[in-house]
Amino acid sequence: MPWRNTKDPYKIWVSEIMLQQTRVDTVIPYYERFIERFESVLELANAQTEEVYKYWQGLGYYRRADNLHKGAQMVAFKYGGKFPKDPKEAKEINGIGPYTLGAVLSIAFGVEIPAVDGNVMRVLSRQFLIEEDIAKAKSRKIFEEKVMQLIGEDASSFNQGLMELGAMICTPLNPKCTLCPMKSLCQGYKKQKVENYPVKSKKEKSKIYEYKVLIIKKEDTYWLEKRPNQGLLANLWGFPLIEKEKWEQYRYLEEKAIHLPQTKHIFTHRVWEMEPIIIEEQELLDIKKELKLKKLFMNQNGGYFTNEEIDLLPIGTAFMKVVKEKRDHVERGKR
Ligand code: SF4
Repeated sequence: MPWRNTKDPYKIWVSEIMLQQTRVDTVIPYYERFIERFESVLELANAQTEEVYKYWQGLGYYRRADNLHKGAQMVAFKYGGKFPKDPKEAKEINGIGPYTLGAVLSIAFGVEIPAVDGNVMRVLSRQFLIEEDIAKAKSRKIFEEKVMQLIGEDASSFNQGLMELGAMICTPLNPKCTLCPMKSLCQGYKKQKVENYPVKSKKEKSKIYEYKVLIIKKEDTYWLEKRPNQGLLANLWGFPLIEKEKWEQYRYLEEKAIHLPQTKHIFTHRVWEMEPIIIEEQELLDIKKELKLKKLFMNQNGGYFTNEEIDLLPIGTAFMKVVKEKRDHVERGKR
């Protein structure tokens, strides 16, 4: 992994933020592209948010990019571009939670501090038959204490070893126990109880939200708007999204619309089920002979864009699926 050959806290930080909620093999090309463009914390701090989003596009969970960017500005302007080594200072940086704090400080500077994430909790719970429910936030403390009992002078190697063990060997399903360098010490393996660990309560069921997505067309351009700076997909671009119940009263508008296949996007605790339609702007204006519908569906921060311009916008991952459906539809029309 490219971030394992460096002691540069900035690069370790970027990799750890990208790896949250995202698989290693997905992250590698994004990490390489990001670091090539934003080589140092100063480069990132001085970049425009839109460009940072562009390099994040496809990784999802854009709040991570936003925090990383703001955090880089803090390191650049408050600490003169040097990532602080002191945990008290470092944990004040945007987006640095206890795991990232531990990973960056231990790997880059050798600070003896735990870096406990889901992988590490899984390894330790199997090794020591720890019964704490890893889905509960308060359990982290128990695992951090365990790490502190075990960590030696080389905190960097210790934490990285645990992380790698969790990612490559002690996987959630079918752990490779026979290949594991820790098997002679692992109580779960010795007592054949690996399957029972970690203890993890079931996640709450995701809530489903149904939306009509309006792809409003004007000649060869399409309306996209910037989302508010709070909430899901904040500051990213997307199409107008109307809740299905609210849409009912406007369903008559669909008469002349083109229906695209339904798409779905899964967030951490919610699912968006989206039904995109392509509708000419004229239809919104003609039916009421006034601007009411336009005002209702299109926010102030929007504009009409060509396909080429859409490619350059930082678009929320959920909307990328709609963009793809729209593009496929246009391509089919050309054939
Ligand atoms: S022996 Fe198996 S369960 Fe124990 S740490 Fe290794 S991979 Fe995990």
